Amino acid sequence: SARIPPYLTVLHVLQVLLIFAKEDNQSDGFWWACDRAGYRCNIARTPESALECFLDKHQEIIVIDHRNSRYFDAEHICRSADQEETSILPLLNAGFDRQFMENSSITACYNELVQIEHGEVRSQFKLRACNAVFTALDHCQEAIEITSEDHVIQYVNPAFERMMGYQKGELIGKELTELPKSDKNCADLLDTINTFIKKGKEWQGVYYARRKSGDSIQQHVKITPVTGQGGLQTRRYSSMARVHSMTIEAPITKVINIINAAQENSPITVAEALDRVLEILRTTELYSPQLGTKDEDPHTSDLVGGLMTDGLRRLSGNEYVFSKNMNLNHSHLSVPNTINDVPPCIAQLLENEESWDFNIFELEAVTNKRPLVYLGLKIFARFGVSEFLNCSEATLRAWLQVIEANYHSSNSYHNSTHAADVLHATAFFLGKERVKGSLDHLDEVAALIAATIHDVDHPGRTNSFLCNAGSELAVLYNDTAVLESHHTALAFQLTTKDSKCNIFKNIDRNHYRTLRQAIIDMVLATEMTKHFEHVNKFVNSINKPMASEETTNITNFPDNQTLIKRMMIKCADVANPCRPLELCIEWAGRISEEYFAQTDEEKRQGLPVVMPVFDRNTCSIPKSQISFIDYFITDMFDAWDAFAHLPVLMQHLANNYKHWKTLDELKCKSLRLPSENN
Ligand code: AMP
Ligand code: ZN
Repeated sequence: SARIPPYLTVLHVLQVLLIFAKEDNQSDGFWWACDRAGYRCNIARTPESALECFLDKHQEIIVIDHRNSRYFDAEHICRSADQEETSILPLLNAGFDRQFMENSSITACYNELVQIEHGEVRSQFKLRACNAVFTALDHCQEAIEITSEDHVIQYVNPAFERMMGYQKGELIGKELTELPKSDKNCADLLDTINTFIKKGKEWQGVYYARRKSGDSIQQHVKITPVTGQGGLQTRRYSSMARVHSMTIEAPITKVINIINAAQENSPITVAEALDRVLEILRTTELYSPQLGTKDEDPHTSDLVGGLMTDGLRRLSGNEYVFSKNMNLNHSHLSVPNTINDVPPCIAQLLENEESWDFNIFELEAVTNKRPLVYLGLKIFARFGVSEFLNCSEATLRAWLQVIEANYHSSNSYHNSTHAADVLHATAFFLGKERVKGSLDHLDEVAALIAATIHDVDHPGRTNSFLCNAGSELAVLYNDTAVLESHHTALAFQLTTKDSKCNIFKNIDRNHYRTLRQAIIDMVLATEMTKHFEHVNKFVNSINKPMASEETTNITNFPDNQTLIKRMMIKCADVANPCRPLELCIEWAGRISEEYFAQTDEEKRQGLPVVMPVFDRNTCSIPKSQISFIDYFITDMFDAWDAFAHLPVLMQHLANNYKHWKTLDELKCKSLRLPSENN
């Protein structure tokens, strides 16, 4: 039987009340029997004195003589009972436990009393003790639950109801595992707990329970098996843990806590693997792949070092001197007066503007290196930008001119042709069904503006170079996202400085703030130190949920729209490996030339050489392109293609990659095979 703590059941001296109208052998028999059993005994002669005595002492056993007494109700009952045989049922119903046939032998009386003690009296004591225990549990501050061996809930206290958000009635009789919708981990944990309980051992640990409201809470739980008939388990939930789980925690803290909890009851191999996971999680740079120092292809490590670090190899003292066109450029605006004013050869070229295979270099040639204004006018018109901004075409044109004039035509890569190329790719992506369906008109306008300005006033040097050189810009922006900060800030300065080119002058403040925020976010997203962060977030929040066929349209959530816009401008920015082979080769030649020029200058000025492989005397361009594609392009475009569906780009990418591989296998270091050179 259930073990009742002895201190609750230890019998004080058992008391007996004998109610006998007069003394005789029978009453003496009970008297001496009480003496033998060690009970305390009282005798009452009248109903009144019996009641008085009982109210005073609450005797456990009462013996009522009803052989010839007229005083007791029992006699009346008995008499009526006598008429229908000698049934004792009416007596039992009246509250009597048993009937003792007249027998004055002390032994007979003694046996009777002792049997009563070990039967009803002790059961009564146990029940009373149980009542006391449950009353205590009901008032306990800690959440307590009792289940049967097979996890059926038998009792929960009010603290448990409050903590879990359930009513007692919803829990009792239910199986434990039905309640928190048990996932895989939960099932594993339950297994562990069961093993403990089956061995009769207590289990203590951290447990995640799902509340009725759906959220999980972390609790320190102690589960104690109660051995004996039926088998019970009691769970005690520490209220400390409850307070703890309600404090505000950063998501990463929650993740670490979950892992810690999982570790507690995991096999050693799993626990050790989780240790390594924790070590990684506690470091800050979660999105930057760590390059091995050895075995790494120098083309990759140079590119990564050159593009993804902000002057880690900084060397102070050497001032970077900007080239002449660093000064804000508002001069020589030989541009069309209206979009209808466009020379026919340009207009004709622009007809093909919506195609991915559009040749931006031809546009560069016919516009005398002013492709951005012409392409901008065409694309902005197509997307209704001046309508959205409520500005005239003249303002838009003036703005495009100012922006384009502040790109350095002396840069071989980062000039306005690159900006026009990124604008072209952005417009192309905006035309894709999925992208269009995910973004608002404001997002489209922001994306087109961001693409246009994203590299304005680029000095043709990398962030690392500027930091190493201690350039003014690096000082201004604290070696952090130096160029991207500059492009954005300068673009807004140029735009708002002169109302003639201020495309934002007619939109209200709230619209402007939202638009400005979106533009800044996109331009800053082009910074390569955050490359893996943006790509991983996109994959985790967009690709993965989409692949698992979630029913709701996740792409319209503002957070996800931001991720889509970032991914879009990032892909547009480095889409050159996905262009038709001839264009891809031209871009590769231009970026290589710009890197070579930087290396030349680094050597000239005695600065650290950020990307030594980009030395014009030794560089293998095919190798560098293979590395660039392997490291930055393949995964990103796989993810973007999975979202936006871009088979043409993926085909070009595969084709171009093959081109570089072929050259590399033939040990060719230039852009083309010698036979193909034109
Ligand atoms: P952005 O400076 O905004 O154009 O960012 C793109 C980054 O990718 C720049 O640092 C470029 O130098 C780099 N990049 C783009 N295309 C290539 C390429 N084909 N090979 C190597 N690096 C590239
Ligand atoms: Zn760019």
